[in-house]
Amino acid sequence: MNVIGLLGGMSWESTVEYYRIINQEVRRRLGGQHSARILMYSVDFEEIDRLQIDDEWDRAGQLLGTAAKRLERGGADFILMCTNTMHKVASAVQDAVRIPLIHIADALAERIKAQKLTRVGLLGTRFTMEEDFYKGRLSTLHGLEVFVPGTADREIVDRVIYGELCQGQMLAESRREYVRIIEALAGQGADGVILGCTEIGLLIKPDDSPLPVFDTARIHAEAGVDRAIDS
Ligand code: GLU
Repeated sequence: MNVIGLLGGMSWESTVEYYRIINQEVRRRLGGQHSARILMYSVDFEEIDRLQIDDEWDRAGQLLGTAAKRLERGGADFILMCTNTMHKVASAVQDAVRIPLIHIADALAERIKAQKLTRVGLLGTRFTMEEDFYKGRLSTLHGLEVFVPGTADREIVDRVIYGELCQGQMLAESRREYVRIIEALAGQGADGVILGCTEIGLLIKPDDSPLPVFDTARIHAEAGVDRAIDS
C-alpha cells in the first residue's frame, strides 16, 4: 500500500473527515486491522485565509508548494490537497514536487460521469463558484455543464463556509438555506449537486438534499484509497 500525503488544515474540520474516510475505506476494502499509510502536513489556515483575502495567490502557491515538498521528503507517494478552493494554485503545488497531485476536480468528474450525469449544480466558496480554475476544468476537460447559484445566494454559501463550517459550527438555519439553494439549482436544470467545498458534507447529508449529492471530500478521499491500494 502506498503512502498517502494529505496537505490539510484548510480547514482542519474537513481534514479530520479525510483521515476518517480514508481509514474506514481501507478497513472496508482490506478487512482485519488494516489501516491507511498516511503522512499529513496541516497548515495554519489563518495564513491561507489572509492570502486569499489579500489576493496573494502566488504567495499561497509557494507556501503550499513548500508544504508539498515536505510531504515528498517525508516519503509520501502522492498528494491529496484537502480543499477545492486552493486548487486555484494546483499547478504551483504540482510543479514543486515530482510525486503526483490527485486533482480534486478530476476525481469528482469521474464520479459524476460514472453516474451518467452531465448537468450539475456547484456549491463552494466564492472563488470556486465564480472563477474558471474549477468550473472551467469540469466543463472543458470533462464536458460537464455546471450551474451556480445567483449572486445573493453565492454570498450566503460563501459566508456559511468561512463563518460557520470552517469554525466547526453546523446550524439548522444554514442547512435550510442550503437546501433552498439546491432546490433553485434543480430549477435551473441541475440533476445533481456538487458539495464543492470540503466542509459542506459536514452540514448537508445525502438525505437532506433534493438532488443527488457529490461530496468532494468523500470522493477525493476515496480516490486516494483507490490509488494507494491499486499500487
Ligand atoms: N475547504 C474549502 C474548500 O474545499 C474552503 C477553505 C479554503 O478556502 O480552502 O474549498
